[in-house]
Amino acid sequence: MAYLDGIKRVEDLDLDGKRVFVRVDFNVPLDNGVITDDFRIRQAIPTIQYIIRNGGLPVVASHLGRPKANPSPEFSLKPVAERLSELLPEREVIFAEDCIGDGVVEQSKRLEPGQILLLENLRFYEEEEGKPRGKFNSDEEKAAAKKALKESQKKFAESLAALADVYVNDAFGTCHRAHASMATMVPFFGENKGCGYLLEKEIKFLGNIVYDPEHPFVAVMGGAKVSDKIGVIESLIEKCDQICIGGAMAYTLLSAKGVDVASSRVEKEAMDIAKSILDKAANSKCELLLPVDHVVSTALDDTTPCETVEAFGAGQMGLDVGPKTRELYGNVIRKAKSVFWNGPMGVFENPRYADGTIAIAKAMTECAGTTVVGGGDSAAAIRQFGMDDKVTHVSTGGGASLELVEGKALPGVEALRING
Ligand code: AMP
Repeated sequence: MAYLDGIKRVEDLDLDGKRVFVRVDFNVPLDNGVITDDFRIRQAIPTIQYIIRNGGLPVVASHLGRPKANPSPEFSLKPVAERLSELLPEREVIFAEDCIGDGVVEQSKRLEPGQILLLENLRFYEEEEGKPRGKFNSDEEKAAAKKALKESQKKFAESLAALADVYVNDAFGTCHRAHASMATMVPFFGENKGCGYLLEKEIKFLGNIVYDPEHPFVAVMGGAKVSDKIGVIESLIEKCDQICIGGAMAYTLLSAKGVDVASSRVEKEAMDIAKSILDKAANSKCELLLPVDHVVSTALDDTTPCETVEAFGAGQMGLDVGPKTRELYGNVIRKAKSVFWNGPMGVFENPRYADGTIAIAKAMTECAGTTVVGGGDSAAAIRQFGMDDKVTHVSTGGGASLELVEGKALPGVEALRING
């Protein structure tokens, strides 16, 4: 597809005997050093295995969490190295205690066929993100620190590039960030750069559904804030036949329509945005569906009674879409030829308010068309319900998938384009 024009695939690269820098997204959730979900690690394995099978020596790099200092043991990739070893028992995973420096260069040069070098967290260096850390007394001071960091970011990128001969990006979840390992280091590799299988798959499914969908094309949007997703919703209004809205964002839109949503979570400062979305939809061919009933309570806890209503009573807040809405949205989804879903329909972390989100996931599995789940909470939800293998694609990237759907260029992808 056009989005991949000018980008080499890992299979187009000469890997034999070469050290291959593989930027992956191993930003996995950790609980006291234990990985609670290894989805992102498993997703990167086909690329790593292909590189090894074709004589390449993978130098694998990722960020993890938001460390504020170097080192930050709680954000070490060591547990990831252990998990990667378990997933690849026939390979030897060597963990580098740093991500740059002479010692790591030496380790990369000593790599033997079948071995994998996993670098320590890229974000131990503020140069990775290019955002200065620490406190500043004035805007001028901050601007000066940012400028200085821009220079040291180039050096950091060069040090990363010294670890390999070929560059492969398989970190879709980070492609919306122009970070050192995603963009700044890439030009050092000339034309020896390309995308891994996961990145290719993400772009293929997300790109196809947005730029060349089969109709009816339905989007399901949920989550907390309409202001976070305005660009995406506006872009989807131009492409979709129907958009089903749920989650707290539905209450901001209902409120903008003049509906009394009592104590539901409403973004008061986003009223103008909400009104412009409603206007845009009214003047388009896209039908914007809002919940017709709600599971409500007067407090978000496990004991306060909840009930289903069509009109809100005083003090009630909407915490999930009701059964009529589930039925309505489910029917729309089942009839679609393409579905894109992002964001939960309610406070799905609490089982009392998860039914709306479960109903959407189930309807996606019952749809015969192409069904794509954007990353973030909806991806976590569909996997939590054990339905992820019954949809066409579950994206590994939350922000990146939304930016792609919105039609924005992703810096991590653009850096891979030859002559681009
Ligand atoms: P987002 O990150 O924008 O996709 O939002 C996900 C969050 O929205 C989840 O943590 C949900 O608990 C929350 N959420 C969904 N529906 C509601 C609701 N009706 N009221 C409050 N929070 C909600």
